[in-house]
Amino acid sequence: MRLSKYFLVTTKETPADAEVVSHQLMLRAGLIRKLGAGLYTWLPLGLRVLQKVEAVVREEMNRAGALEVLVPPQVPAELWQESGRYEKYGAELLRFKDRHQRDFILGPTHEEVITDMARRDIRSYRQLPVNLYQIQTKFRDEIRPRFGVMRAREFLMKDAYSFHLDEADLMREYRNMREAYRSIFTRIGVDFRIVKADSGAIGGDRSEEFHVLAASGEDLLAVSDGSGYAANVEAAETRPQGARGAAVAALEKVSTPTQKACEDVAALLGIPLAATLKLIVAKGRDGGLVALALRGDHVLNAVKAEKHPLVAAPFTLASDAEIRAAFGSEPGFLGPVGAKIPLVADHAAAALSDFVCGANETGFHLRGANWGRDAAEPPTADLRNVVSGDPSPDGQGKLTLVRGIEVGHIFQLGRKYSEAMHMTVLDEAGKEIVPEMGCYGIGVSRIVAAVIEQCNDAAGIVWPEPLAPFRVIVCPIGLEKSPAVKQAAEKLYEELAAAGVEVLLDDRGLRPGPMFADADLIGIPHRIVIGDKGLANAQFEYKRRGAAEPAMIAAMAQAVLERIKIAA
Ligand code: ATP
Ligand code: MG
Repeated sequence: MRLSKYFLVTTKETPADAEVVSHQLMLRAGLIRKLGAGLYTWLPLGLRVLQKVEAVVREEMNRAGALEVLVPPQVPAELWQESGRYEKYGAELLRFKDRHQRDFILGPTHEEVITDMARRDIRSYRQLPVNLYQIQTKFRDEIRPRFGVMRAREFLMKDAYSFHLDEADLMREYRNMREAYRSIFTRIGVDFRIVKADSGAIGGDRSEEFHVLAASGEDLLAVSDGSGYAANVEAAETRPQGARGAAVAALEKVSTPTQKACEDVAALLGIPLAATLKLIVAKGRDGGLVALALRGDHVLNAVKAEKHPLVAAPFTLASDAEIRAAFGSEPGFLGPVGAKIPLVADHAAAALSDFVCGANETGFHLRGANWGRDAAEPPTADLRNVVSGDPSPDGQGKLTLVRGIEVGHIFQLGRKYSEAMHMTVLDEAGKEIVPEMGCYGIGVSRIVAAVIEQCNDAAGIVWPEPLAPFRVIVCPIGLEKSPAVKQAAEKLYEELAAAGVEVLLDDRGLRPGPMFADADLIGIPHRIVIGDKGLANAQFEYKRRGAAEPAMIAAMAQAVLERIKIAA
């Protein structure tokens, strides 16, 4: 491709509204343009990268035995009503009507659509197992679209859905997909981790996420330093703690007129934050309220809390008015002593003795409080986010927290959708059974941004070889003035193209500075500089993107091809 005929629009300035480096570089290198909040156009250069990711994903899915389909992004609402998600999914689901006033949604994920297709056409065990996938645009009306295509409202997803006679076969395919994903991310060339995950709105029994490790990642991951354990903080478990210390102190009321937060109470009393206890009041599953007790230094994990049988799902905090009515105190002064609503304590909160908590009286706290003596022995549960230094739940090592970008998610759905949508097949004995399902997603467009987060330097993007939009850029110096340079550049360009290399010829007649800056910014892995000086010695200058120094090579296409081969 000749740059003089290409749609390349690069800028030096960092766009003001782009917070993370991938978003900045995608705009500066002219990969994407914003159409509206969370909506992006892929320019020619960006689309080439997106299509490379797509190609790797497609090849590995095909190799793993999955079959590609394509279903419409707009879906009749009835299917979502059947699964119950039309009501449950919330404001992320874009709903609209057609001219006949029929309800539709724009698909954020396609379990219902594929299950509907499967229940019509799959009748016999002979047709199972099957794994159907598509690479298609999804729409989620994200509350906070940001970071460019990383968290967009419209994005490209690879979604796959598998159907099985029994759980054992689902397990087999789950492992098969896990391996396919491993191959995909290895081929793409990113540093990734597989972590235990929460199943979220898609539901099901067991799931794992694939994360690209990056400081800008929106997800916190807990990784053990003593074993292979890794989990999204949403799903990382804590275990009951050892025996609780003896109750020594007497219960004593202390005045804390303005101290509502545990931090302030701890500072006033000169005690560690970890010796305080707080109550978080949520809506209960029975329609009433439920109090969740946590240590002052711990953070409630709403995903865990809403799985507790006493807690309403989705997790909803009680209002201040509801708290006042239930406790007779302002929020900020709550505690388990004398609390009149059901209470569940996090394992660590239940292990406290002689702790400080609210007195359920505005302006007062209690010190020397103890479970079993001042407040009833509470039922316990895992309710909090793990913190750095917590023991790994497998008993080996300690957890540390790192940040990641979720690029893939695999689920064992079980019969959640096949049952809700009455899908049955006849087994070998002629009996009707409800198939087991799995589903497997990859954020194809998000991968482009995630890779840039890992692969960049001060000059711009450093594409891993398999994703580079072009592999070689030929930069002639003094193109207009030197017929020898022009001829050598044209010849190299033609020869590389004929050899099947994706090559750019920068024939825009720029000075070396801006020409090299663009080549670095758009991240082309191999740069060939052709100038009169080098040609006098029958040499090209070769530089690998990211290398400190260029090298001289023979002025022949063959020499360039050899360099590329070594790199790949
Ligand atoms: P997240 O937790 O980041 O919101 P999710 O768990 O809701 O993602 P899934 O339903 O598992 O996402 O979707 C499969 C994949 O689609 C994700 O692993 C992610 O890579 C990608 N994805 C999800 N939401 C977005 C988005 N708003 N923009 C770009 N990619 C997305
Ligand atoms: Mg997910």
